[in-house]
Amino acid sequence: MDTRSVKGLSLGTCSSCGKRTPIYFRRYSGVKLCSTCFKEDFVKRVRRTISRYGLFRYDDRIVVAVSGGKDSLVLLKILYEIEQDFPKSELLAVLIDEGIDSYRLDGLRTSREIARILNIELHETSFKDLYGFTLGEVVKSGIAEKLKLNPCTICGILRRKALVTVARKLRATVIATAHTLDDIVQTYLLNLLRGEKNLRPIGLRREVENIIPRVAPLRLTPQRELALYAYLEGIPFQSRTCPYTHESMRDEIRNFLTLYDYKYTGSLYAFLNMFERILGKIPQPAEVNRCEICGEPTDRRICRACEIVLSIRSLLKN
Ligand code: SF4
Ligand code: ZN
Ligand code: ZN
Repeated sequence: MDTRSVKGLSLGTCSSCGKRTPIYFRRYSGVKLCSTCFKEDFVKRVRRTISRYGLFRYDDRIVVAVSGGKDSLVLLKILYEIEQDFPKSELLAVLIDEGIDSYRLDGLRTSREIARILNIELHETSFKDLYGFTLGEVVKSGIAEKLKLNPCTICGILRRKALVTVARKLRATVIATAHTLDDIVQTYLLNLLRGEKNLRPIGLRREVENIIPRVAPLRLTPQRELALYAYLEGIPFQSRTCPYTHESMRDEIRNFLTLYDYKYTGSLYAFLNMFERILGKIPQPAEVNRCEICGEPTDRRICRACEIVLSIRSLLKN
């Protein structure tokens, strides 16, 4: 028996194969996994997530939102492997450049390279092409401040809209995003703290006429396991950090949840399960209200994305 240890913990052998030395200890279940078993288990969990929630149909035309970061490239790679079992489905990748100085350059190069290796069409577009301005211009000109909007708020809302616009052009039947368990719990908490009135499950398939569903196949995957998988598979980590990361409320929630889940292991799963059980009991409106400008679903007369784009354009003219 292998008696090597890390910080006094006897490693023993992998709980799954019983042969190799573990490289990962899953604290909430007590399971220790070697590199091979960890990678197999990682992919199996994504497969289980897809079938548990019915995220895809056998003949879907799936658009994967890639950013060049490890999360979206891991998702692209795994969906590529899974989709080999579904010959009638198609996989496309979309990259949206928000125009934040040179932040996306590395990501763009890596995404092109991985899409080329996997032979997946990569469609690139930018805020400049779609809206006529970059996020960098909006922040540096002081417009974001004038509108009392955090760069991440503008970025998130406009990126989401851009993705839907491109997915429609590509006739996608579903959009897959790389949101992990951590991301989804952060968003639920953020929505609660902001007093969001219309709470809905995130990353689950919801069929509504003329709306492309958005799904998150990594919704049960913890961020730390994703990082380890990316490392083991040689998927590059982005070397540049977005200059606006630390301006977001999400950053504070992320730091809090990471520490909390470390101290009280399994808390993220507990929160997700409990919160989604409650959400399941809230009746969702049968009719979908649509934006008067773009026709996308919204609870307002004009959606937040159209409102932001119109305000920025008018301020840029003056
Ligand atoms: Fe956009 Fe904020 Fe992420 Fe930067 S940190 S890419 S501004 S959401
Ligand atoms: Zn093993
Ligand atoms: Zn709109």
